Amino acid sequence: MSERERSVSTDDQPARRGLRLATVGGVPVYLNATWLLLAGLLVLMYGQLPSAAGTGPGAYAMGVAFVVCLLLSVLLHELGHALTARRWRIQVHAITLDLFGGYTEMDARSPSAGADLLVSLAGPVVSALIGFGALGAALAQPDAGLLRELTWQVAISNLLVAVFNALPGMPLDGGRILRAVIWAVTGDPHKGSRVAGWCGVVVAVGSVVVGVLAYANRWVGLLGVGFTVMIAVILWRGAWASIRAGHVAARLAGLRLGSLVSPLVAVPAGMPLAEAQLRGGGAALGVTDVHGRLVALVHDDAAAAVPVERRGSVPVESVARTLDPGRTLAVELSGEDLVRAVRLNPAPVYLVLSDGAATGVLRTADLARALTSVRPES
Ligand SMILES: [Zn+2]
Repeated sequence: MSERERSVSTDDQPARRGLRLATVGGVPVYLNATWLLLAGLLVLMYGQLPSAAGTGPGAYAMGVAFVVCLLLSVLLHELGHALTARRWRIQVHAITLDLFGGYTEMDARSPSAGADLLVSLAGPVVSALIGFGALGAALAQPDAGLLRELTWQVAISNLLVAVFNALPGMPLDGGRILRAVIWAVTGDPHKGSRVAGWCGVVVAVGSVVVGVLAYANRWVGLLGVGFTVMIAVILWRGAWASIRAGHVAARLAGLRLGSLVSPLVAVPAGMPLAEAQLRGGGAALGVTDVHGRLVALVHDDAAAAVPVERRGSVPVESVARTLDPGRTLAVELSGEDLVRAVRLNPAPVYLVLSDGAATGVLRTADLARALTSVRPES
């Protein structure tokens, strides 16, 4: 019932998500195999409880009907997130329905705190609407019967989903709402991530406490406690991920490509590596073609791997890689944008452009050093 943020859209892995059910509003919907476990457990639980359908096959059939309603409810909750995100031009990759309900994968970057707030709010609002709608329908039915029992259960489950997801801790929807509010008030999304993350830690611990108390009072069985603990573990991990992301992102914000640029020495193709290195004097090397155009960048590791005695005969371009648009960076890049650009096209060295002209190179090792040495903000 949460949104999973992806900072970089790498190759999609539909196989990991499960069976593709449909595409709704341009968003692919997957059914994960773990969902069958949830469905099986619920049907089993139903079969053993007395219901309006009696016991035995009738009760199991009721369980199946409830599971289908739950699946549709969760799907509508996720579509609430996904379609609101698309409305704000946030890229949505997929909705996956799984053991814990479901989640929506979307780009981590939100255009504003307001958009983030609405996207997070949309899921619980949809669940609450279904819940109250079903509650009304249940109350409107005069006779106790299968349909009333089913609508009643749909009402309760959706209201529970709405309330639980609205708890103000990451990675729940409520945590994202809290983060968006802090972002709006302070102008700092990273502080929002850290505070909402800490609240998520409290929610995770609280879930375990509630689960154990419910078991002690015999409101739930061992299975219920086990499920609660599994949910708590997911919340705990999501909460800490949010706290870490908040710290890292705040550090990143101070990173400027301009301050990491190294000088570039261009040498013509065909020049022996030894001569090129002598001319470069330790600077990064670029290779030019017969027209004097820069066409490739030397990889330091590849050059270092050539035995010294062979460097006099090996042409410099044999340890260089052709420049392509993915291996050039605009000097204005900073912070998250810089790291994103590097992650999208991993390479040991990039050409840095200022107004379209080469101004030097970024050695990825220098970026890594800067990332680990930047002082954490107070
Ligand atoms: Zn949600």
